[in-house]
Order: sequence, then C-alpha cells, then structure tokens
Amino acid sequence: MSLPGGVERRTVDGRDRLVTRGEPVYGEPSVDGWRVWDPGRSKLGAMLTLGMETGLSPEASVLYLGAASGTTVSHVADVCGPTYAVEFAPRPTRDLLDVAGSRQNLFPLLKDARKPETYAHVVESDIDLLVQDVATRGQADVALRNRQFLAADGRLVLAVKARSEDVTAAPEDVFDRVEARLDEGYDLLETRRLDTYHADHIAVVARPR
Ligand code: SAM
Repeated sequence: MSLPGGVERRTVDGRDRLVTRGEPVYGEPSVDGWRVWDPGRSKLGAMLTLGMETGLSPEASVLYLGAASGTTVSHVADVCGPTYAVEFAPRPTRDLLDVAGSRQNLFPLLKDARKPETYAHVVESDIDLLVQDVATRGQADVALRNRQFLAADGRLVLAVKARSEDVTAAPEDVFDRVEARLDEGYDLLETRRLDTYHADHIAVVARPR
C-alpha cells in the first residue's frame, strides 16, 4: 500500500501501525515523536488503512468539517499544509484549541458547516482537500454547500454515517440516496464501506464537477 508523504508505518508495541509526526492528542501511543493513527477511532485513518487514495500530502490545503476534539484533524495537520477545522459544538472546540496550540498550521473555527458563508472570509480559496465527518442528517448537502471552497482539481473526502441520515432505513438505501445527491455536484471516484472499523459508514472520494 502506498501512503501519503508524512504518513508512515511503524512497529509500535509489537504491532504494525499508521503513524504521523506530532504531539500526542488523545492518549495514543507515540514512539520517537511518531504518534499512532488509530483506524478504529478515525474514519480517515480507516480509509488510509484500506488503501484509499485520499490526496493527503504536505502541499495540500485542507478544510475539515466536523473536527470534534481534534482526533483526526490533528493527524491531518501533522501531514498537510494549512488546515481549517470547522466544529459547531463549543465543548469539543475548546479541546481543539489546545490541539492547535502545538500545530501552527491548524485553525479551529467554531462554525456551522451548513453555513459556509459564515467562514468564507477566513478560509482560503482553491482548497485542495475538503474532508468531512459531520455525522448529521444532510451530509451530502453539507458537502455540496462547501464545494465552493475546492480547487477545480481538489478532492472531497467524505465519511457518511447511515444512521445519522435515517435510523430505520437499510444502510445501503441511505448510501444510494446520499450518492445520488452528491452526484449533483461531484464526480464520485471511489466509495468503500468502512464496516471493518466503523459500522454502517461509507467513505467517498470525489472531485467537484
Ligand atoms: N471527525 C472527528 C474525528 O475523527 O476526530 C469526529 C467527528 S464526529 C463523528 C462529528 C462531529 O461533527 C461532532 O463533533 C459534531 O459536533 C460535528 N458536527 C455535526 N454537525 C455539524 C455542523 N453542521 N457544523 C459543524 N460541526 C458539526
């Protein structure tokens, strides 16, 4: 499996693990400054472990929607360039501010991802990667509303949680509906079920149309 620059495989506690270089954030093991990226706690980590082409790179600028306390976005900022992290819940955003303290390129924004007009003046244009993990109803709509930030050759890297859209419907039906809606603004390049690590989730990589 080929990994993006800045993401490596190291043996930690006798196991082959994905790692990035940075200050530990969530109690994850760290060896010689390399911290374990746990695919069971991070959908993006699961995507990388499954060999998906995410577009993470040291040159990439990133808009991350649904940053929570910073578990995943901290790894993204370890690897990538400027990383804007949107989260609308005040409590996790406080933790995110601490995470950003040791990362010069991580910019937390206490904002609602359904209202991109409220942060359009802060986020740079022509972003390379839009990473989204909001786990709320209307996940495709959020991705469509934030498409405006992406460069023409940028990528959407999206985790979709079926139960957040509809707790009663079969996950496959939910995923079909989400993909159909995304198709209104994106060309889908790759979709994968993440069940090995995250039940009833799919990952989508797409490019803006
Ligand atoms: N991506 C995180 C990680 O891997 O570390 C976990 C994200 S958690 C599954 C979903 C997060 O999205 C929650 O913290 C929630 O508050 C946030 N969220 C949900 N809807 C949102 C919205 N409209 N705007 C901003 N954040 C939102």
